[in-house]
Amino acid sequence: MSKYIFVTGGVTSSLGKGIIAASLAKLLQARGLKVTIQKFDPYINVDPGTLNPYEHGECFVTDDGAETDLDLGHYERFLNTPTSQSSNVTTGRIYQTVINKEREGAYLGKTVQVIPHITDEIKRRMLLLGKDKKYDIIITELGGTVGDIESLPFVEAVRQLQWEMAEEDCMVVHLTLIPYLSAAKELKTKPTQHSVRLLSQEGVHPDVIVCRTEQPLNNDLKQKIALFCNVKPDAVIEAIDASSIYEVPLKMLQEGLDVIVLKKLHINGYAAPELTKWKAFLEKLKYPKSKVTIGLIGKYIELQDAYKSILESFVHAGAMNECKVEVLDVHSETINVDNVAEKLSKLDGLLVAPGFGSRGVEGKICAIKYARENELPFFGICLGMQMAVIEFARNVLGFEHAHSTEMVKETPYPVIDLMDEQKEVTAKGGTMRLGAYPCDIKKDTLAYTIYKQTSISERHRHRWEFNNKYLADFEKAGMIPSGKNPATGLVEIVELPDHPFFIGVQYHPELKSTVENPQPIFVHFIKAAKAFAEKRNAIKNPLLQSEMI
Ligand code: GLN
Repeated sequence: MSKYIFVTGGVTSSLGKGIIAASLAKLLQARGLKVTIQKFDPYINVDPGTLNPYEHGECFVTDDGAETDLDLGHYERFLNTPTSQSSNVTTGRIYQTVINKEREGAYLGKTVQVIPHITDEIKRRMLLLGKDKKYDIIITELGGTVGDIESLPFVEAVRQLQWEMAEEDCMVVHLTLIPYLSAAKELKTKPTQHSVRLLSQEGVHPDVIVCRTEQPLNNDLKQKIALFCNVKPDAVIEAIDASSIYEVPLKMLQEGLDVIVLKKLHINGYAAPELTKWKAFLEKLKYPKSKVTIGLIGKYIELQDAYKSILESFVHAGAMNECKVEVLDVHSETINVDNVAEKLSKLDGLLVAPGFGSRGVEGKICAIKYARENELPFFGICLGMQMAVIEFARNVLGFEHAHSTEMVKETPYPVIDLMDEQKEVTAKGGTMRLGAYPCDIKKDTLAYTIYKQTSISERHRHRWEFNNKYLADFEKAGMIPSGKNPATGLVEIVELPDHPFFIGVQYHPELKSTVENPQPIFVHFIKAAKAFAEKRNAIKNPLLQSEMI
């Protein structure tokens, strides 16, 4: 039978519950246990797919096509195992199921209520991943902050599960904040006491308290938190700010979080944690031998979370190349023909981000033209790939006003067009081409050099595609489709053989990059950026150049 760990959060949001949950999962996995994580979010959207990235950051997509919270990305990057449709549940999804059942008459005339019907559905979903007996431990992160009205039914469901299960089968880890008041030069425990009290009022008592803090907690403070919050002193865990999220599992190991958990769940005979690969990655991350600057061009760059998986993929690929990747955010709306050379002059590589709608697309096209003409390594993802196709159509093929019908319906050259299966779709939620699809890769191409295989699978989230009516024109002029969907012929990868590194992909490779398996396009992109930087430095420094000769 699976055992369950629930992770709640108190005091404020953004404490990094997802990272703590993922770090705990990593440590338990490193000790030989089979672990998975899921997230329950209290908002009413059925999934985050319809949310503007400014609201909730990036929308992560699973292999089986679920549009999910970005924390699932952390779970996958830490554990190196895929999540699925069942791994992210919202209040909206719970209510949708209950209301559909009510319409079918499944409640046999009963009044449908938050307790027991909504809480029963929450509990059913919390236990779902345990049904197929694949996991020893299932960690459930509860989104939101304890005390919020909207998270009450979730906390109540946890209370009921705790009551139903044996003591050793279930536990609660509560993450709180210990603020440091610089005027008083003191760490304050009161907000933590209050949040534990709130949680207790709702019937749930935490077994472990993880304290986010900017300053180390001394023993006295830990004792105080333990006493006031009614947990044992060794169950008070310090989670001090780390320079990288990937340091957190090691910090939690030092603090003994995994051991406390194993004790509470009566799991004996566990192995010593096997973290060799993880530590090797951290070592490379901490001591890079070179540095590159990559321009990330998108329209949501003010918000770090909007491109979370891309930024993390750069961390993985950078470590693999023993290279520090500095990401320079460039707002696509600020780029034009007059300033593009100056804006991109410091870059060793250009990544044009995914996106929707017409805002900022001309800036993206302008930047891509610069990269194509100046041998600057280019990597386009989804909308970024579509913009590369438009740029090539306009400036190489001479297709004046070529565009995507997403932006200009009446364009004379619809080189990017709505997919046939999308033409009848009117609803917005969950209706894109979502999840993993196979892609066949042509030999003797950059894509083949990168993937080293002819058949791959990557995740998608889009409605528009390359218009195959123009394929012959593109190929003749030097932009080739090096990857296609084997069933439909949909162009998945385009590249320019005459350029040192120019690749655009219709899918989202960033969604599959993990610490232990960095995504290969990112790895090769950084390699190309390193080569570009070396060449540029050699030109700047003729002495170096003569040495090179
Ligand atoms: N808006 C484009 C489409 O739907 C690109 C989507 C994306 O970048 N994820 O095809």
